[in-house]
Amino acid sequence: MTFAPKAASMKGDGQLTIDNVQLTIKHVPQRMCVACRERADKSELIRIGEGRGAYVHDNPDCIITAIKKQSFNRALRGKMNILNTIGLCKRAGKLITGYDAVVADIKKAAGV
Ligand SMILES: [Zn+2]
Repeated sequence: MTFAPKAASMKGDGQLTIDNVQLTIKHVPQRMCVACRERADKSELIRIGEGRGAYVHDNPDCIITAIKKQSFNRALRGKMNILNTIGLCKRAGKLITGYDAVVADIKKAAGV
């Protein structure tokens, strides 16, 4: 089956008309993940920082990569703060709280 419209037009407000059938095409803002550099819908990414901001996928791999590569500092021009970092670590599942748990993790990392 071949679809061969006789008339089609597109208006600036996202209204697409094909053979008198009107469709609305919604604009979805896209942003780039600072870790993997892939583009994604803005709603699929976590926004960090004020003003222009920087975006990262909501998955541990991208978050950890961005922290290790200091991608946020570069994207935010050094405006990354400790609260942003703590929030990202929590989302990545890498936040440890409480004295005993932190000491145990440090000892484990040091092989003690
Ligand atoms: Zn990513």
